[in-house]
Parts: sequence; C-alpha cells; structure tokens
Amino acid sequence: MNSINPIRDYLETSDDPTDSSSHAIVIGSGFGGLAAAIRLGARGYRVTVLEKLDAPGGRAYAYHQDGFTFDAGPTIITAPFLLEELWQLCGKRLEDDVDLRAMDPFFRIVFNDGKTFDYSGDRQRTLEEIRKFNPDDVDGYLRYLTASEKRYRVGFEKLGFKSFDSLWQLLKFLPHLIGLRSDRSVYNLVSRHVKDPHLRQVMSFHPLLIGGNPFSVTSVYSLISYLEQQFGVWSAMGGTGSLVTGLAKLIKQQGNEIKLNSEVDRINVDGQRATGVTLKSGQVINADVVISNADSAWTYRHLIDPDKRKRWTNKKLDKAAYSNGLFVWYFGTEGQYPDVPHHSILLGPRYRELLVDIFKHKKLTDDFSLYLHRPTATDPAMAPDGCDAFYALVPVPHLDANVDWQTHAETFRQAIAERLEETVLPGLSQRIVTSRLLTPLDFQNRLNSFKGAGFSFEPRITQSAWFRPHNRSEDIDGLYLVGAGTHPGAGIPGVISSAKVLDEIVPEPRHARHG
Ligand SMILES: Cc1cc2nc3c(=O)[nH]c(=O)nc-3n(C[C@H](O)[C@H](O)[C@H](O)COP(=O)(O)OP(=O)(O)OC[C@H]3O[C@@H](n4cnc5c(N)ncnc54)[C@H](O)[C@@H]3O)c2cc1C
Repeated sequence: MNSINPIRDYLETSDDPTDSSSHAIVIGSGFGGLAAAIRLGARGYRVTVLEKLDAPGGRAYAYHQDGFTFDAGPTIITAPFLLEELWQLCGKRLEDDVDLRAMDPFFRIVFNDGKTFDYSGDRQRTLEEIRKFNPDDVDGYLRYLTASEKRYRVGFEKLGFKSFDSLWQLLKFLPHLIGLRSDRSVYNLVSRHVKDPHLRQVMSFHPLLIGGNPFSVTSVYSLISYLEQQFGVWSAMGGTGSLVTGLAKLIKQQGNEIKLNSEVDRINVDGQRATGVTLKSGQVINADVVISNADSAWTYRHLIDPDKRKRWTNKKLDKAAYSNGLFVWYFGTEGQYPDVPHHSILLGPRYRELLVDIFKHKKLTDDFSLYLHRPTATDPAMAPDGCDAFYALVPVPHLDANVDWQTHAETFRQAIAERLEETVLPGLSQRIVTSRLLTPLDFQNRLNSFKGAGFSFEPRITQSAWFRPHNRSEDIDGLYLVGAGTHPGAGIPGVISSAKVLDEIVPEPRHARHG
C-alpha cells in the first residue's frame, strides 16, 4: 500500500517571529477551522492553524492509496455560495481553483424491496418518481417543500449566522421557532404532507447526514430539502479534498500557516483568559485569541482544566446526547459499475426501529442502511484506469455501545460487502483491489471525537442554538469555538457558518496585519 498526499505541498510557510500583529491560533483544520482561519486572516489577524494529523481536512481528510483517492468524509456539497464567499474574501474565485459539478440525480434511494427512487433537482422528474409510488403524494410533496422553505428562511437565513450566546438572542427567535412548530420532528413534518411509507423515508433521511435522528431532530432541519432544491447538490472534481486544498492555499496566500503534526495538549488559561496553547511536544505558542475547531466536547473535556469550567463540566458533557457513530469502508474495484450513480442510499428493512437501536438503545444490529459513494461516476481520475473508487458508510451507535471494533470491524465489513454484492455491486468480492476501514474508535483516537461520535452533539432542539456549546466560550475569555459541535452544527454548510459567526464576536485585531 502506498500513501502520498499532494495537499501538503501547499502548506509549509515560515512563521515570521518579528511580526507583531495580533495572533490567532486555530486548533484543527476541518472545514470550520479552515474557514475561521480565512475569515480572521481577512480581518488582519496573523493566523496559525495547528493540526494534529499529517494533512488538513479533519473529517474531510483524503486518503491516497494504491492509485485511488478516497475522500474520508463529506462528499455531498450543498450551499456552494458559502464556499464562494471564502474565496471572495481573499479577492479570488472558487471556480478558478475548484471545479464543482452538479449531481444528477442528487441521490438514488434503493429500498429493501428492490424499488428505487431517483431524487433530483429536476422538479418534473421528481414528481414522476413520486407518482410511481403514490400519485396522491405529489401535491403533498409540493406542500412539504413550501414548509421546508419557511424553515430555511428562519433556520438558515436568520439563525445560521448568529452567535446565540445570550438568552436574549434565544428569546428573540423563540416566537419564530414556536410558529414553525420546531418541537415536531422532521419525520413528523414529512408525514403530515406525504403518506407513502417509502416516500416518507426519501423526504426525511437528510438529518442523518448531519448526525440527527429524523424521528427526534427538530423539523427546522427539513430546511435541507429546500436548500438542495434551490442551490443544487454538487461534487468537486478531484474529490472534496480539492476544496480542502483550495482553502489551505487561500490561507497560505494570506501569508498564514497550517502546522501539521502539531497536536494541542492544552489551552493555556490565565485567570479566566486564554493566552495560547501548549503542544504535545511541549512547545508553548501564545496568542491573542484561540479558536478551537477540535470537537467541542473534546475541547472542554481534554484541553481545558476542569477547575476553569463552570458550564461545560465533565458531568454535563457526560450527560449530553451525542450523534451516532459511523463505520466507513473505502474500497477500490478492478472493473467498473457504470450503472451505479455518484450517490446512492441503500435502505434496510427497518427505518424507525433501526434508528431507535442506534440512537437510543446504542445497539449494533445485523440489519443496516448505508450510503454508497462512487466518485468515479463523476471523476474517473479518482481511480486507476478502468477501476472504480467507492465508500460505504453505515450509521452505527457511538462508543457507548458495547462493540469491540478492533475485533468486529472485519465481520461488519464482510456483512456490508455481502449486502452490496447481492444488490448493486454483483461480483464485488472477486474485484476488490484495495480496502481500508474507519470505525467509531478511529473517530475517537484519530479525530479526537468524544465518544467516537460522527457529528459531535446530537442536533436535538434541547442541544441546538443557545443550548449548544457557544461559539464564544461561556467559560473562557478569548476562546471561540467553530465546527460541528457548536452553533449552528454539523455538515459543511453548518461548520462554515460557525466560522462566519466569528465575524460578529471576535474583536477586531488590536494590531492588524494589513491595517
Ligand atoms: C463519513 C462522513 C461523511 C460526511 N458526509 C457529509 C457530506 O456529504 N456533506 C456534508 O456537508 N457533511 C458531511 N459530513 C459532515 C461533515 O464532514 C462534518 O460535519 C464537518 O466536516 C466537520 O468539520 P469541523 O469543522 O467540525 O472539523 P473536523 O472535520 O471534525 O476537524 C477537526 C480537526 O481538528 C483536529 N484536532 C482535534 N483535536 C486536535 C488537537 N488537540 N490539536 C490539533 N488538532 C486537533 C482533528 O485532527 C481534525 O483535523 C460527513 C461526515 C462524515 C464523518
């Protein structure tokens, strides 16, 4: 197995010790951290991003193995205007660095009974698909989209970029949230408009993409349906890794730096104020502001002394609900499967009951649903000539479940391979030429994710907005949080928005670099 990573070429710049401009440290180079670094750099901060791993991206790390490129995590790009904004802040254009391609269909949903549904941005084709299942649901779907748009106008446009760090903010928006019946779940909202059980699954699975159970996540998250229809679903040529490379390049062009293999051991606090960080190597780096893009629960539990924390105590962190875990199998095949689209979802025999097992009972069951990624459907260069690159992602319980992933991973992989072989990838077992796994244990040990959760805090209404760890730390002055575990939440649009919140709450640099 060979492993190279071209992203690193963009990173190494020299830190100028004579530069006395205000210094911001960003811990972690996930999408949230990279976006935060760009925004702070654009405001005149000298920025140092400190990343534990040997390449940036976090969950969006790219593995290069045996001629295949595997995006480790995010593959579905929505709300591309949020990315464009980052390029514009640097006086550049996203399209000059990254080639985004529109997905058609957005997803193919394959039900356990063999029926399929192609969900796309083409309204007429989607309505035809709905008609195949239940003609009466066509009007219901259109009404559901209107309901989704209402939630987009409030949840995305009004709430997405606010810091939500005072109760007053929450009270101000409460009437909107009550008016939209945010206490209802996404599944409940869908079911009010759509009757067919298959279609209810098609319209309600989206919260799973950000770690939410459609049966308990607030219906505000149904905004994703409108977001997709209005702004499309995209994929980057070269994979999501090329977006990460593009963002890393912007940071370098701003004269700032990403230090790899630099794990932060603790955030240094004087009184109640963050003064910088100490790396695992023992090196101390001072800063005017510290931004943590590390998982928020991990940040509080492992990087800040307990006696400095009033709100995010270990007890409160232990009691919180965390999103599901993820089991991901990356594999390459000799030969291709041209009938398999870029994004497929294979649903298992159970829907509600399976999610109860994962989210509530924390039980790994024999049946499962999965997302299948085939990037070579869009970009053949993701695999050697004549081959296909894939990943199969299965939602599983996080590490509170009694699963020994070290011994169980291979058994679980085989179950996935069998399912794929019986359904959409015939002859698979004879064709695999490269393979690697990522389990909830890796989310904990590699990505510092508390309980190995795939998406940090579960996005329940009682853990959203003011109730989530704030973007401006409640406990430590000069410490700010971005990423999936803070407001507004997980997913690339969410974590990029969390960085946008910083514009409102991080003070102007006292000594601006370009000021
Ligand atoms: C398999 C998978 C598929 C997904 N698919 C999609 C999708 O298709 N579309 C979508 O929009 N979203 C998707 N998501 C969700 C999305 O990827 C994440 O919500 C988002 O990328 C998280 O970004 P983040 O800013 O929170 O940082 P993360 O990606 O979590 O990165 C945090 C970084 O901090 C680093 N770090 C942690 N601790 C330290 C420390 N002490 N010192 C230094 N560095 C540290 C980590 O190494 C990591 O690089 C997916 C997620 C997964 C896991």
